[in-house]
Amino acid sequence: MAAFGKQTIRDLEVRGRRVLVRVDFNVPLGAGAITDDTRIRAAVPTIRALREAGGRVILISHLGRPDGVVVESLRLAPVAARLAARLGVPVHAVPECVGPVAQAAVDALHDGDVALLENVRFHAGEESNDPGFVSALAALGDLYVNDAFGTAHRAHASTEGIARRLPAVAGLLMEREIEIMGAALASPRRPFVAVVGGKKVSDKIGVLRNLVGRADHLLVGGAMANTFLKAQGHATGASYVEATAAGVVGEILAEASRAGTHLELPVDLVIAPRLGADAPSRVVSVDGVPDDQMALDIGPETVARFAEVLRGAGTIIWNGPMGVFEMAPFAAGTMGVALAVAGSGATTIVGGGDSVAALEASGLADRITHVSTGGGASLEFLEGRELPGIAALRDRH
Ligand code: ADP
Ligand code: MG
Repeated sequence: MAAFGKQTIRDLEVRGRRVLVRVDFNVPLGAGAITDDTRIRAAVPTIRALREAGGRVILISHLGRPDGVVVESLRLAPVAARLAARLGVPVHAVPECVGPVAQAAVDALHDGDVALLENVRFHAGEESNDPGFVSALAALGDLYVNDAFGTAHRAHASTEGIARRLPAVAGLLMEREIEIMGAALASPRRPFVAVVGGKKVSDKIGVLRNLVGRADHLLVGGAMANTFLKAQGHATGASYVEATAAGVVGEILAEASRAGTHLELPVDLVIAPRLGADAPSRVVSVDGVPDDQMALDIGPETVARFAEVLRGAGTIIWNGPMGVFEMAPFAAGTMGVALAVAGSGATTIVGGGDSVAALEASGLADRITHVSTGGGASLEFLEGRELPGIAALRDRH
């Protein structure tokens, strides 16, 4: 495993100290209720470790995009209730994140107590990383822990600014995210297979560029595959194709052949005349897409080929669905790849908001080595970029 270069909560003496912990409780909400508490559960190990070590745990998170004003539906009190249920101890929901109300709540904490401050994005200073707001947050704690991998790619007050004011270390989730993904990139067990899909090549240029030379196999699906197929001279009909990405695709194809990465594109596709759950769909070979039809999923022959490669893999990184998995006629490709990834003996990592949603829907998530909690952050990490929320933490040496 790649050495994690940052200090963690294991390097801190927390007894009797006020520990500000940035967590990612940006959970999906439906009709005011939490529809998926994966992110809450993911933060439990760090919170439990800190309180058991006698720390006074003060949690900070954002929820949604309130854009600097109070939005009643984005208050964190329901999250505090769910966290309390998961932790098995009370969690004090503080109705402010800075100022006298927050200060009084923090002053009332005993060793081992847990409080959750109100949504930090109710203040514009959070996203602008305003020094005054950073000071107001930092005044509430003695130590800082960042366990919010999902927002580590943002230089905000509660992720980056505050880490420059207080002794700052990584939480256990943050450490795990970086260790597993870092090891997969730096020293993968081979064969190393990257599966990349989703909609736009332009969203994933960085990931494609960073993975193409490292991976032994690069399997491309989703709408993104259409842009590759078009660049190779196939007719793509009415499919979604990103014309402006043709040049990039050419470079990636060239880099794959230079580096000896086996780049595989779909050999068959599921097509339909329009995007709809009731649209008549059929499977055609990659050369059989009529002018008035669009490719909305990879076909069964492609799934079989991809599955064959995945079966022999040592490491798999998957980012981006293979088709419009949200609609039943176009979900089989993504489900087939999910099954193959889950069934392989490889170290498996899945990142990307929609990919993770597809995986959760398939019920296979617990058969994956690591499902990244950070959509945009995992993408930037896979691009090989340094994330500001991590860079600001104390180095190990
Ligand atoms: P992730 O969030 O996992 O990084 P993306 O956001 O890049 O993934 O892409 C997911 C979206 O791509 C999904 O909404 C899916 O419907 C869409 N998509 C996948 N394949 C196709 C296709 N062939 N045509 C149109 N859209 C597609
Ligand atoms: Mg997405």
